[in-house]
Amino acid sequence: MVASCSDGQSNSEHKSYTYRKPELWNKKHLTWRLAASASMPKGMSEKEFRQAIARSFKQWEPADVFTFSPSSEKAADITIGFQKPPDRKWDGHLGLMAAASYPWTRNRGHIYLDPAEKWMAKPFAILGDPVTDWLPHEIGHMLGLPHVVEQGYIMNEMGPYGPPDEFDFSLLQHLYSPKTIVPTGAKNTPISTSLLGGE
Ligand SMILES: [Zn+2]
Repeated sequence: MVASCSDGQSNSEHKSYTYRKPELWNKKHLTWRLAASASMPKGMSEKEFRQAIARSFKQWEPADVFTFSPSSEKAADITIGFQKPPDRKWDGHLGLMAAASYPWTRNRGHIYLDPAEKWMAKPFAILGDPVTDWLPHEIGHMLGLPHVVEQGYIMNEMGPYGPPDEFDFSLLQHLYSPKTIVPTGAKNTPISTSLLGGE
């Protein structure tokens, strides 16, 4: 069980606050954009995708560690798209669904969704997988959270996932609290997330 440890970090009024961990994000506000080269899945507009992404980021904001906003700038902190991570292969429909890069890797700030899935922008889909069932988990990795063994939580390796809750927020608060050691010994390549578990 990871204890929550919010050592003075819970005051979001401190806009100039920066985290002193070079292996993590060292700012409190992160911007995101769509990957320029990635194409959209059938039946989903770019506008719908952007809205689904914005909803997914919003779900992490109550943790009071980060705020997020879309950006049209190339220099956005986070890039999201239906594309392949470098040095990895997707496995077709189902199985591996998505991947993200940890903040201490060369490729930090990337979230990849397997283009072979039947992605939907709507939060409730009869057929297909809502991107909002997967993005909050990948956002967790992108911020530095590894998998947890506890079943049913958003950072468990088995998806799909509901929105993050107090337990998940405490993990993020704990990671960014000054005294916590960052687990950079974990994989140095993008971590991928599978519908059926896996790596
Ligand atoms: Zn994962």
